[in-house]
Amino acid sequence: MRINGVFVADSQPLAPLTTMKVGGRAKIFLMPESVSALENVLKLLAQSGVSYKIIGNGSNLIVPDEGVKVVLSLCRLKAIDRYKRDVLYVEAGCTMAGLLLWCIKNGFAGMEPLAGIPGSIGGALFMNAGANGVQLGDFVSEILLTSSHGSAWMSVPKGFFGYRKSQIPPGTVVSAAKIRLSAKKSGYQQEEPISGSHLVATSPSQILGNIKKIMKKRLNNQPLGRPSAGCVFRNPSESCSAWALIASCGLQGKRINDAQVSTKHANFIINLGNATSRDVLDLMTLVKKRVWEETGIFLKEEVVVWDHEEKIS
Ligand SMILES: Cc1cc2nc3c(=O)[nH]c(=O)nc-3n(C[C@H](O)[C@H](O)[C@H](O)COP(=O)(O)OP(=O)(O)OC[C@H]3O[C@@H](n4cnc5c(N)ncnc54)[C@H](O)[C@@H]3O)c2cc1C
Repeated sequence: MRINGVFVADSQPLAPLTTMKVGGRAKIFLMPESVSALENVLKLLAQSGVSYKIIGNGSNLIVPDEGVKVVLSLCRLKAIDRYKRDVLYVEAGCTMAGLLLWCIKNGFAGMEPLAGIPGSIGGALFMNAGANGVQLGDFVSEILLTSSHGSAWMSVPKGFFGYRKSQIPPGTVVSAAKIRLSAKKSGYQQEEPISGSHLVATSPSQILGNIKKIMKKRLNNQPLGRPSAGCVFRNPSESCSAWALIASCGLQGKRINDAQVSTKHANFIINLGNATSRDVLDLMTLVKKRVWEETGIFLKEEVVVWDHEEKIS
């Protein structure tokens, strides 16, 4: 049903909207089609005192089997537009793949190390998604925050984005971002990453070549043929990776029902077909316990685990 520029669904299954393919339904699912429709939705929710959860592309998310009450999706806010010579406007519902496609078409390099991250811009900003030493936050000058009071651009201060985190408070809606562009030609190659402050003009074929190399690496290292939520745990430090700790504890292949620690990448939990959210969470607990007992290191989740909300009525 579409009401005032907002697509509304009740009892929306969420598992198909996540890459892990587990979890229950959203009692109410809202998809505003513009920033102004989003503002109206947030106003209505605030007036009625209803809390909500935000979903992006669901690629870093574990939804509880019992479901949740109200979910807001920005997947229909997909505009991407170079509205100044050196600024790219990109809305939160645009995917990382969509942004990379824009980069290829328009000949702007710098984001290739992020190829293969299956998130939306909103989710990738919230998580400061990154790979190969480059993070999305490196390129962002301003973010558009939307609340029941309206929308406002916020300049990104130094230190706002950190390792797989941002200072965006949970529940605050990011509806768009501005990305710095530099029209100056550069000799950027994947082997010599730029500092990452702005995208630089380069030939589309060079960008495509860089993306192909990155994707080949991902295909070799990650179990991309199975549902997962990417890396489950954060690396404890730069020199200590979660996958190495998990592998050293002999946990690869460990299963709880259809949730399994990947044999290809120890920090991935894959869904072999019929895993439930409970199976994934129990396996995460088992991994944390074993790593703690055997190494004395306490792993922290990188994936976002939504709470089970009592009484979905
Ligand atoms: C195969 C695979 C590979 C991956 N590789 C990487 C990788 O290399 N590097 C990496 O960093 N991650 C990786 N990930 C994890 C994931 O893709 C990223 O964290 C991604 O940025 C999450 O974006 P999303 O839109 O899917 O967010 P979701 O999973 O939908 O949500 C994640 C969090 O962001 C919040 N959120 C979403 N949209 C908004 C918004 N508009 N405003 C405010 N909050 C919002 C949600 O509420 C939630 O708390 C991988 C995942 C998979 C499945």
